[in-house]
Amino acid sequence: MLKLYHTKSLGFYDGGLMLASRYFMPTLKENPSEAQVPSHIYLIRAGFIRSLAAGIYEYLPLGLKVLKKIENVIRNRMDEAGALELLLPILTPAELWKETGRWDVYGKELFRLKDRKDADFALGPTHEETITDLVRKNVRSYKDLPLNFYQIQTKFRDEARPRYGLIRGREFIMKDGYSFDVSEEDAIKTYEVMKQAYHKIFQDLKLDYLMVEADVGAIGGKFSHEFVVKVPSGEAHIVYCEKCGYAANVEAAKFHHHKLPPEEALPLEKVYTPNVSSVEEVANFLKVQPQKVVKTLVYKADDKFVAVLIRGDREVNETKLANLLKALDVRPATSEELQNLGLVEGFIGPIGLNLPIYADYSIHELYNFVVGANEKDYHYKNVNLQRDLKVEHFYDLATAKEGDPCPVCKEPLKETTGLEVGHIFLLGTKYSSAMKAYFTDKDGKEKPIVMGCYGIGVSRLMAAIVEQYHDDKGIIWPDIVAPFDLHILILNVKDENSVKVGFDIYEKAKSLGIDVLLDDRDMSAGAKFKDADLVGIPNRIVIGKSLNEGKVEYQRRESQDKTLVELEKVEELLKSLVKR
Ligand code: ATP
Ligand code: MG
Repeated sequence: MLKLYHTKSLGFYDGGLMLASRYFMPTLKENPSEAQVPSHIYLIRAGFIRSLAAGIYEYLPLGLKVLKKIENVIRNRMDEAGALELLLPILTPAELWKETGRWDVYGKELFRLKDRKDADFALGPTHEETITDLVRKNVRSYKDLPLNFYQIQTKFRDEARPRYGLIRGREFIMKDGYSFDVSEEDAIKTYEVMKQAYHKIFQDLKLDYLMVEADVGAIGGKFSHEFVVKVPSGEAHIVYCEKCGYAANVEAAKFHHHKLPPEEALPLEKVYTPNVSSVEEVANFLKVQPQKVVKTLVYKADDKFVAVLIRGDREVNETKLANLLKALDVRPATSEELQNLGLVEGFIGPIGLNLPIYADYSIHELYNFVVGANEKDYHYKNVNLQRDLKVEHFYDLATAKEGDPCPVCKEPLKETTGLEVGHIFLLGTKYSSAMKAYFTDKDGKEKPIVMGCYGIGVSRLMAAIVEQYHDDKGIIWPDIVAPFDLHILILNVKDENSVKVGFDIYEKAKSLGIDVLLDDRDMSAGAKFKDADLVGIPNRIVIGKSLNEGKVEYQRRESQDKTLVELEKVEELLKSLVKR
C-alpha cells in the first residue's frame, strides 16, 4: 500500500518518519575554534553535542542515540556478569563524605552546595560512600552477601582543566559499580569476573585498548587496573612490554633495575665545583657517568619536607612518593622553602642533611658516586652508601621510561599514551571499616565487608570511539554504536521516481528492524554527501543518476568502494544488513 508522505521540502507529511528534513542535526562546515582533538571537533561539527559551559555538554538527538547504545553494551555485559542495576541519588549529604575523610580529601573537585537549612551537600563525583551506607543499613549476615551493584548516572567533578570535549567534562556520565564480599579471596574472584566483563565491553565496542596496572590513588585500596584506549591525545602515560604483555600506567609502572658493576670504595673527597650544579654539568666537570651523580631532591609532602636520593639519570615519580609517605599532596620544594631550610639550591646532598631521607632503588649497589656537599660550589666524590650515608632502606620511587627492562621478562619497555576509559579497584575494607559496614560471619564474628569498585566513563567512551574511528571527512561509527544503521540519500528530491524509490527502501528497511535515516532535504548532492560522511552512519544507499538504469548505490562508510545494486536486489541487501 502506498502511503502519502508530506515532508517540509516535499509537501507531503507523515510524522512517524526519520526524515533528515525534520530531524535536528545541526552540522557545521568549519571546525569549532575551541576544539583541538578529532572527537571534540567531529562530535560538535556532526551535530552530536553542544557545549553549554566549560566541561558541560548537551547531547543532541544523534548524540543521545549513541550514548544509549554504549550504555546498552555496558548494561548487557554487567547484567551477564551478575551485577544488579540500581540508581543512587546525585545529591549526597556531607556527613557521608566526612565519615571517610573525603569531604576534605576531594578538595575543589567536589561540587558542594547547601540546602535551605544550611546543611552541606555534594553532587556525587563517585558513590563509594552512598552505596556503603545503603549496604551497611541492609546487610547483617554472611547470608546476605555477596552483592554486586552498578548504576549509569551523571557525575559531577569540578575538574581543574576540563578539556577535549567529552573526554574531560565537569558533568559526565559514568557507569559505576561496587561489589561486597565476605572475604578478600571472594572479593578477588568478583574482581576477576568484572575484569573479564570489562574486556568484553571494550571488545564489543571494537576499541584498540590495553589493560594496565594502575595506581590506587586517592580512592585507596589494594590493587587496580585501568583500561586505556590507544590514542595520541590520551593523557595517561603507559609503558608496556610487547614480549610478555606487562603494561602499566607510569604512575605505577615497575621496571627491572640495571645495576652498575661493583667497585672498590675510594676515599671520600670534597671537591670544588664552581657554578656546576646540574647532573650533566657535574658529570662533565668531574668526568664521571651521569649515573654516578646522585640527585638529592627535596619535596613537600602535605606539611613536612623530605629528601629523595635518586640516580642522576632517573626521575622521581611523585605518585609513588605520595603513596610511600601516605601523603595527599606531594610537590617539589620551592626555592624559597629550600632557603628557609638553610639549603643551597643546586648543591644539596645527603651528608649532614637534617631531613628524612628516602633512597630510590637506583642507588642500591651504587659505588663511588657524587652528591652535593650542602655548600655553594662544592660536591662530595666517592660517596659510598654504608660507609658515608648509612642508608638501609630502598624504595621504588623512580618513573619507568621507554627502554627500561620489563619487570617481568627484562625485555625493553615501550611507551605510549592512552585515554583511560575504565578503572577497577580492589578496595578491600577501606570504606567498610571507615563507615562500619560490618557483617556477622559464619564463625559469629563481626567483620568489615570486602569491597571492589568498577568505573567506566560512558560519555568519555563516545569520544574515545571517535578518536579511533574517524578520517579526514568525519566519523566512522562501528555498527554496534552507530546512531542509525542505514543512511538513505535521495540526491534529487525534485525527481518523483527518486522520492518514491527512496521511501520504498526506507519502509522496507524499517519493516526489517533497520534503524534508518532518510535524507530527503532539498539541497545539493555535495552537501548531502558531506553531511553523511561527517555523521558517519555505517551503511549508505544513494538514490542518484543510476536510478535511470534501475540501480541504487550502496557504500560502507569506512570504504571508498561503491556497489551498484539493482532495485530487485535491494531487499536482499537490506536483509544482509540486519545480520551485521
Ligand atoms: P582521570 O585520571 O582521567 O581523572 P579518574 O581516575 O579520576 O580519571 P575514576 O574516578 O576512576 O577516574 O572514574 C572512572 C571513569 O570515569 C574513568 O576511567 C574515566 O573513564 C571516567 N572519567 C573520570 N573523570 C572524567 C571526566 N572528568 N570526564 C569524563 N569522564 C571521566
Ligand atoms: Mg580524575
